[in-house]
Amino acid sequence: MMSAIAAAQLNNDVTLIEKNEKLGKKMFISGKGRCNFTNDCEVEEFFKNVISNPKFVYGSLYSFSPENVMDFFVSHGLKIKTERGNRVFPLSDKSSDVIRTLEKALESGGVRVKLNERVTSLIIDSGVCVGVKTEKGEYKADKVIVATGGVSYKLTGAASDGYKFAQSAGHSIVAPVPALAPINTKFGYRKLAGLSLKNVAFKVEFNGKPIVSEFGEMLFTHEGVSGPIVLTASSKINRYPVDKLKAFIDFKPALDFDQLDKRIIRDFDEAPTKQLKNAFDKLLPSRMIDAFIDKLMLDKYKKVSEVSRAERQSIVKIMKNFPLDELRFAPIDQAIVTAGGVCVKEVDPSTMQSKLCKNLYFAGEVLDIDALTGGFNIQLAFSTGHLAGISDK
Ligand SMILES: Cc1cc2nc3c(=O)[nH]c(=O)nc-3n(C[C@H](O)[C@H](O)[C@H](O)COP(=O)(O)OP(=O)(O)OC[C@H]3O[C@@H](n4cnc5c(N)ncnc54)[C@H](O)[C@@H]3O)c2cc1C
Repeated sequence: MMSAIAAAQLNNDVTLIEKNEKLGKKMFISGKGRCNFTNDCEVEEFFKNVISNPKFVYGSLYSFSPENVMDFFVSHGLKIKTERGNRVFPLSDKSSDVIRTLEKALESGGVRVKLNERVTSLIIDSGVCVGVKTEKGEYKADKVIVATGGVSYKLTGAASDGYKFAQSAGHSIVAPVPALAPINTKFGYRKLAGLSLKNVAFKVEFNGKPIVSEFGEMLFTHEGVSGPIVLTASSKINRYPVDKLKAFIDFKPALDFDQLDKRIIRDFDEAPTKQLKNAFDKLLPSRMIDAFIDKLMLDKYKKVSEVSRAERQSIVKIMKNFPLDELRFAPIDQAIVTAGGVCVKEVDPSTMQSKLCKNLYFAGEVLDIDALTGGFNIQLAFSTGHLAGISDK
């Protein structure tokens, strides 16, 4: 949509082809239906939130920055607001208002929008893209922009068509993997499902070496774990062999081992006759206590005054490093974004044009770019889309 608007502003004759019955189905469900469409931060800060290929998006972000995106929407009549963490939303909290604003800009730019029409292939003639074939016919064009998105949330229309188009032009595809996704475990956490943990750290090790430690909020699910810090961690571990990864929860990240040990001694001294199963109510959420005691492998009816030093240290160890079962990556359909896609080495970052096929451009999540939550992914789609739209051969 942003590509088409940008191209039309330069007086091009533009056709937007969408296979769904309406535009922006993924955007509609984004931000829990509120569409967090950008992040009002400095461009330099932005790059810290881009996981795959931040250098590639440098030019496009400077050419159409978060500030430009906010100006675009405000100048097209959308009222916007900024929330915690610089997340920008429509004031109405309705993603449909963001989509409607884009539709109006398409309309006033004279873009022909073809709905219910699936592109089936590119028309390539001697290394030059000269149009597309659809299920209904052919379109000749002197510039084609592929903005078919990632492969997750298939109900929104996501599919791998864009990768096939790129491959037909000689491009390589970096294997798609789930990013911003829940992390499943071998047995899941049926008993704990829905329990949310605040101010904890989610830590992941690869071959025993720490690779990720995220602080904040997470939750247990029937299949494993999810929530903000788990989603972030998932984007940072999705290229590792999952069988070599181990994940832990640190329930008390603000206290080091000794400080936590002292804190537990104090609690135990205050109520020496308490049984272990009742001794952690100040340190853990009540629903968590059974699972915690199970991991300790200590008699839960034991009085705390009878707990040995070694046993107490094992309590501290598990509270700082509560191990999760064997990890499994969630199915890609459950990922908020797809990491992987069209290899960016074969795309010119200053125009978004293919380096392998003239007049062919790529934009958005179909490319091997992905970022953390906070409005960064939609902004990446807008920035790369806008640049592809304004670039001329
Ligand atoms: C649940 C959820 C919540 C999210 N929340 C946020 C958020 O709050 N903030 C944020 O920044 N990001 C969020 N994202 C990610 C964000 O929505 C995507 O990164 C963004 O929509 C990517 O834009 P895109 O234009 O590249 O692809 P899409 O938005 O996926 O658009 C691609 C379009 O191409 C169409 N298409 C595909 N193949 C063909 C074909 N062969 N012919 C014709 N049409 C075709 C599809 O139907 C689709 O409409 C969320 C994602 C999900 C799933």
